[in-house]
Amino acid sequence: MALENHTPMMQQYLRIKAQHTDKLLFYRMGDFYELFFEDAEKAAKLLDITLTQRGSSAGKPIKMAGVPYHAADQYLAKLVKLGESVAICEQVGDPAKSKGPVERKVIRIITPGTLTDAALLDDKRDCIVLAISLQKSVLGLAWLNLAAGQFRLLETSPANLMSELERLKPAEILLPESLENLPASTESSIYKRLPAWQFDYDNAVRHLTRLMGTHDLSAFGCNEMHAALQAAGAVLEYVRLTQATDIVHIKSLQVEHNENYLRMDAATRHNLEISETLRGESSPTLMSLLDTCSTSMGSRLLRHWLHHPLRDYTALRHRLDSVAQLIEAPGSAAPYKAIKEQLKHIADIERISARIALKSARPRDLSSLRDSLLYFPAITLKVVDLSSMHLTRLAEAMRPENELVTMLQRALLPEPGVLLREGGVIADGYDAELDELRALQNNCGEFLLQLEAKEKARTGIPNLKVEYNRVHGFYIEITHVHSDKIPPDYRRRQTLKNAERYVTPELQAFENKSLSARDQALAREKHLYEMLLDHLLGYIDHLQRMAQSVAELDVLSTFAERAQSLNYTAPIFTDEPVIAIQAGRHPVVESQVDHYIANDAQLGSWDGRARQMLIITGPNMGGKSTYMRQVALIVLLAHCGSYVPASSVRLGPIDQIFTRIGASDDLAGGRSTFMVEMTEIANILRHATAQSLVLVDEIGRGTSTFDGLALAFAIARYLLTKIQSYTLFATHYFELTRLAEEFGQAVNVHLGAVEYKQHIVFLHTVNEGPASQSYGLHVAALAGVPNPVIKAAKKILVQLERDSAMKNPQPDLFMELPRVTSDPLPETTHPIFAYLSQLVPDELTPKQALEQLYTLRSMLDKD
Ligand code: ADP
Repeated sequence: MALENHTPMMQQYLRIKAQHTDKLLFYRMGDFYELFFEDAEKAAKLLDITLTQRGSSAGKPIKMAGVPYHAADQYLAKLVKLGESVAICEQVGDPAKSKGPVERKVIRIITPGTLTDAALLDDKRDCIVLAISLQKSVLGLAWLNLAAGQFRLLETSPANLMSELERLKPAEILLPESLENLPASTESSIYKRLPAWQFDYDNAVRHLTRLMGTHDLSAFGCNEMHAALQAAGAVLEYVRLTQATDIVHIKSLQVEHNENYLRMDAATRHNLEISETLRGESSPTLMSLLDTCSTSMGSRLLRHWLHHPLRDYTALRHRLDSVAQLIEAPGSAAPYKAIKEQLKHIADIERISARIALKSARPRDLSSLRDSLLYFPAITLKVVDLSSMHLTRLAEAMRPENELVTMLQRALLPEPGVLLREGGVIADGYDAELDELRALQNNCGEFLLQLEAKEKARTGIPNLKVEYNRVHGFYIEITHVHSDKIPPDYRRRQTLKNAERYVTPELQAFENKSLSARDQALAREKHLYEMLLDHLLGYIDHLQRMAQSVAELDVLSTFAERAQSLNYTAPIFTDEPVIAIQAGRHPVVESQVDHYIANDAQLGSWDGRARQMLIITGPNMGGKSTYMRQVALIVLLAHCGSYVPASSVRLGPIDQIFTRIGASDDLAGGRSTFMVEMTEIANILRHATAQSLVLVDEIGRGTSTFDGLALAFAIARYLLTKIQSYTLFATHYFELTRLAEEFGQAVNVHLGAVEYKQHIVFLHTVNEGPASQSYGLHVAALAGVPNPVIKAAKKILVQLERDSAMKNPQPDLFMELPRVTSDPLPETTHPIFAYLSQLVPDELTPKQALEQLYTLRSMLDKD
């Protein structure tokens, strides 16, 4: 509809909205932010607020929904959590001088991945915006944590995308409009499609060198990373468009390399319930168990470490040594205790420094920064007492520069006001002009008393009062009884029932001076505050380093506390190819049950013995999954530099952890349970190495028994002979236990259980040898399957076992299954082979794969 048909206000609204079509527009009207038309409908639904209609524009009713200005933060927080972006449009013109609607402007854009406001950020989680770019078969990733000032790049294979997304959990993902064939569904609202020019390589390099203040990017080791740099350019462009100010606090660009980390694919991160349960809750998880951090910076770093286990053994030893030092100091209580107490006083310096850099720091941010700095000397003193080099380095970075402390102490009142515009922020004695303006206001009381005494004497009115109120300003109040004594220079201001209020020229002059002093003092405070922020800019690097050190000290102290409280032990890294765990426990299950049964796990080769695969059998609910996961979690924790739940642990080099655990339909992705299972196992078989830890829990359940069994066999054998990974293979196919007869490096273990009075008691002990019996029927009885059914099943079982013994239908799987060979495909001239050879399965979505399958089939049918 033509713009001119609308009311002037709606014209203004529509003009602004046209520039922000992909966001919700919060349009300021008085004490409310209003949303109109589709925005109003959407917000009403998302925020559960009332949708109303008011008046009409261009002959149509205007749909409207609003949120109060002072409560806006809570609504914004809800919207960004849902992946929405919001443009905040304020009145910037002077209503008194405006003809028509007051001038309005979008002053801030809030997007889920670029938050820096304390009110909108989750304390315990990093907030990340990620951009993806694809160049041939290289996936470029660049991600920015604006609230921490960290910018990182990575190039990897497209097949790793899901794993990276699971690890980084970005709040917002930027993609070029034209990008297709990503191995991830990009439907969710966190994906933003941007025009291709925002991913321009030359622009990116120009932008980055300017930001980093360098000639080129060689110092960061990313000169050749075209795909990642394109993505980096898009992130910077996005931030430039959404943040009103320049970003100056991002001074470093870190390139990540996959080989630095113990890799885990998306399924593994998910299955191990590192920071989210399989149901998507935050507890009970490894993170919820370990996070007794004193600061939110520590909590965020802990989450990061748990998702980024290191393979750098020097760094790991530093961490482990530090933990050891924090637990034990000769002749005194564990040092971590006092350190953790002191750390509780430290504010979120990381985010405060980002807000300083973005010039959005509030007065209370700065005062809590100032107060935090005062705790550092005591913490540093405790840390340098210990003899760990690593801790000493952290402590060094936590020594605040004196000028910084003095500056903050001098500049700010002990308890500054919440809002700068209401004043009461800058300390007395910091600025002579401000002091003078304040003195004018403060001396006001004395002046009024003097004036009152003087006027009483002049007029002879004993109950004359000089007072002030917000509406009428200063006045002299005189009761009607004394009206005859009013001097001629008194001018009437207001009439009351019993009294009359007046001003005199002297009082009027005082009023003008004092009110303008107030305004001037506020303006001066604002100016001084901005200057202070400018000064603080010079300390951003220092503050960021300090924040990182606090976070690390916090996590290490937390590792120390957890190790002591939960009875963990230090893992030992070795060059030998082993995973040797004695009396290991599952950290999370242990915290949930009364008596946890510890179990050993020995894998690898030592003393001429090889033990590559444990084939784990035993009843359902016996503890197979728990046992396998505990091995993985111990390995994971050790690679984070944490102590581990076991009595002793020795670990050789490990490159990746893979899990194929549990099965759920991926209905959204259009994959059946069996398909999910096979996709996960395919990934393992393609990528696992002899240094990988592989957990396979029940493979082949989603298909017919023989199919499943045959697959399970072939997979186990492939892992044993070709990959030779450290493998834990839990299975309900009892036949698989025969693998141990063929391969010396495959070993049977089983979870113990005993029958007691027709019931089954799980012992949760891992014993050598295969399980002797399937306890399926007992477990069914335990689960409450009615007795007649159990009885009938028992009869059928007996019958089946008898038949099976007679016919011996069990195929000898060792003999009959073809050995895995690498024979080339038979040569053929059929076009289907040419077609097949140009397909890249890793780059196909499930839907595309299915389409290709139909195409292939129709090629055959045509023949
Ligand atoms: P399975 O995989 O054999 O079906 P789970 O590993 O799921 O069995 O274990 C079932 C339950 O048994 C767990 O939820 C836990 O409560 C308990 N459990 C498992 N292992 C142990 C153990 N080592 N000590 C104590 N309880 C255990």
